[in-house]
Amino acid sequence: MTEATETSVRNDVRAWLEANWNPELGLVEWRQKLIESGWGAPHWPTQWYGRGLPVKFNGVVDEEFRRIGAVTVARAGIRTLAAATILDHGTDLHKEKFLKRILTGEDTWCQLFSEPGSGSDMAAATPRADFKGNKWIVNGQKVWTTSAHKADWALLLARTDWDAPKHRGITAFVLPMRQPGVEVRPLRQMNGHQSFNEVFFDDAEVPAENLIGEPGGGWTVAITTLAHERRLAASRPASAPSAAGQAWREAIEERTAAREPHKWYPQRAGRPDLVAPRAAEAGRDTDPVVRQQIAQLAQATMSARWTAQRRASAVAAGRNPGAAGSIGKLASSEIARQAARVHGSIAGASGLLASPDAPADGVIAEILVSVPGISIAGGTDEIQHTIIGERILGLPKEPDASKDVPFREVPR
Ligand SMILES: Cc1cc2nc3c(=O)[nH]c(=O)nc-3n(C[C@H](O)[C@H](O)[C@H](O)COP(=O)(O)OP(=O)(O)OC[C@H]3O[C@@H](n4cnc5c(N)ncnc54)[C@H](O)[C@@H]3O)c2cc1C
Repeated sequence: MTEATETSVRNDVRAWLEANWNPELGLVEWRQKLIESGWGAPHWPTQWYGRGLPVKFNGVVDEEFRRIGAVTVARAGIRTLAAATILDHGTDLHKEKFLKRILTGEDTWCQLFSEPGSGSDMAAATPRADFKGNKWIVNGQKVWTTSAHKADWALLLARTDWDAPKHRGITAFVLPMRQPGVEVRPLRQMNGHQSFNEVFFDDAEVPAENLIGEPGGGWTVAITTLAHERRLAASRPASAPSAAGQAWREAIEERTAAREPHKWYPQRAGRPDLVAPRAAEAGRDTDPVVRQQIAQLAQATMSARWTAQRRASAVAAGRNPGAAGSIGKLASSEIARQAARVHGSIAGASGLLASPDAPADGVIAEILVSVPGISIAGGTDEIQHTIIGERILGLPKEPDASKDVPFREVPR
């Protein structure tokens, strides 16, 4: 087989789309056709709905989807992380059962990792899974689970061995969310949105075959999920809704529903795009302090962009970018906080008003209460500092007295 080049990939996907794209098909029908062709997930293996192409060609494929105005596979939310985790650690049965329905968008997913006593220290998970009869029975609680109220399936970390040290006694499962043993209670955030939930398990059932990886191997599986989560920030945008037709109508409906829990995420990132227009609008663009703050924001944004480009070229060249995702994550927090600072300087006390006649229709107030979230989600800033210290700077490992002790003896 000849090696793929940018031109050959572009020509192939273009020819396939020109012959097959039909906006009048139902969304699932179109996606099934697309999935069979491998162009929905070209970097996945050929036996699992992909074309086995290097990930660097995804951008070219997306450009062709945008050019013709075709809908692509479902990508929003945790389903992408679930798919990546299943591809790396799942059995053939998992791949058959879950991957296709992830791509068609028929199933939605959530991530049951964080819990009241262990967010950063994920290995200290305490919900228990006991094997009884021919299935796993789960009891305990998770929290901060984005979109749990809409999910069909969850990636769950639960403790299966209390005598092993914490990292070796947890196991990863695919938990069916829609069952009587799972109770989802929504949480209201300080910005007024309702993205995440508490999830309680009361004898929730997991079929034996839904164990992912090895019993006690949940830590390895979770690391894969988290590595993909950090990468997700730089992942492919979905095609722009540029065309009419049944497939697009359903895709836009799906996207609107999927984005509902995330609609404050632009504000969480600080809205650096609004800073200069807001300064001009409020007549503060000649104020030396505001100008200085905006310059610092621009400097941080550009440095982050160059770091992301360095990371992308490392990936394209086939090198492992290592912990570079942590630098990007930390940079996003710094940028969001600096942007919030400038918005605060420009708006003054009126930035606290949330009514529609407040500055930027209340968006400034939403920014101020949403920005703290970016320093927490997907691993806090402090945890990113530790990762950078240990894996990039080569500092000694953070001491952890509970690491080698049987988990049941760890004080909690
Ligand atoms: C928008 C959003 C969406 C989320 N979605 C999900 C989801 O879908 N699924 C899910 O499972 N979770 C989700 N989370 C939860 C998130 O992963 C956790 O909040 C995060 O990992 C931190 O855990 P924690 O809240 O328990 O804080 P803790 O771990 O209790 O940390 C409290 C404070 O102590 C600091 N700290 C903790 N350990 C250390 C250390 N070793 N060194 C230095 N400082 C330390 C932390 O940095 C933090 O400041 C979400 C969170 C947010 C904000």
